[in-house]
Amino acid sequence: MLAANQIVAATLAMLEDKIQPGITTLQLDKWAEDYARKRAAVPAFKGYRGFPGSLCVSINEQVVHGIPSDAVVLNEGDIVSIDFGVKHQGFYGDSAVTLAVGKVSAKKLKLIEVTRQSLELAIEQVRVGNRINDLSRAVQGYVEKCGFSVVRQFVGHGIGSELHEAPEIPNYERSNERSPRLMAGMALAIEPMVNVGTYEVEVMKDGWTVLTRDRKPSAHFEHTVVVTDGDPLVLSRRHD
Ligand code: MG
Ligand code: MG
Repeated sequence: MLAANQIVAATLAMLEDKIQPGITTLQLDKWAEDYARKRAAVPAFKGYRGFPGSLCVSINEQVVHGIPSDAVVLNEGDIVSIDFGVKHQGFYGDSAVTLAVGKVSAKKLKLIEVTRQSLELAIEQVRVGNRINDLSRAVQGYVEKCGFSVVRQFVGHGIGSELHEAPEIPNYERSNERSPRLMAGMALAIEPMVNVGTYEVEVMKDGWTVLTRDRKPSAHFEHTVVVTDGDPLVLSRRHD
């Protein structure tokens, strides 16, 4: 899983260097797919339940699952969420970042930083004996304190020899439910989706793209993390 996740991490870093006004989201998709295949990894999202791309590319008010297109061009001031997964030697890696295209508004920059930090706070809770709910509470508490909202309709997930495994990892606290305990060896894809306005989302007519109901911006960060007897091991953090 480390090898798969390091390919994902390197792919996202490569894309980050290429993000600029004028490129299309389909170009990003091609770069990602080529980069992964050259490293003997298979893009995990392509064909997953019929998803047409290798990369999910979601701009501004799009939350997740945006379809790469040669008709969609990045513009100065956009924020773009790129989510990539691969299968390599039988195991999956999954990670996402939200990036600024050129100069963006202070509000969007704050959204990116709060979402990135909420993921870090969740990762700090990845310890034997804690419950999934501890991760959820860490994300929700911080995000709402900062004046933003967490998406409820989509959640993180276990990961391993399948892309999506149990348990579900919500980014909001589910109070009336016994939450799974973390055990050493569990691998978790933790992925806060944070909105400037309402937490409510809807799916576009393309059947995939999720966008905020109020059309205010949204950001998404994701890491694949393993529970150990000590500190959390972030497989999708770049090791170099
Ligand atoms: Mg992902
Ligand atoms: Mg995921």
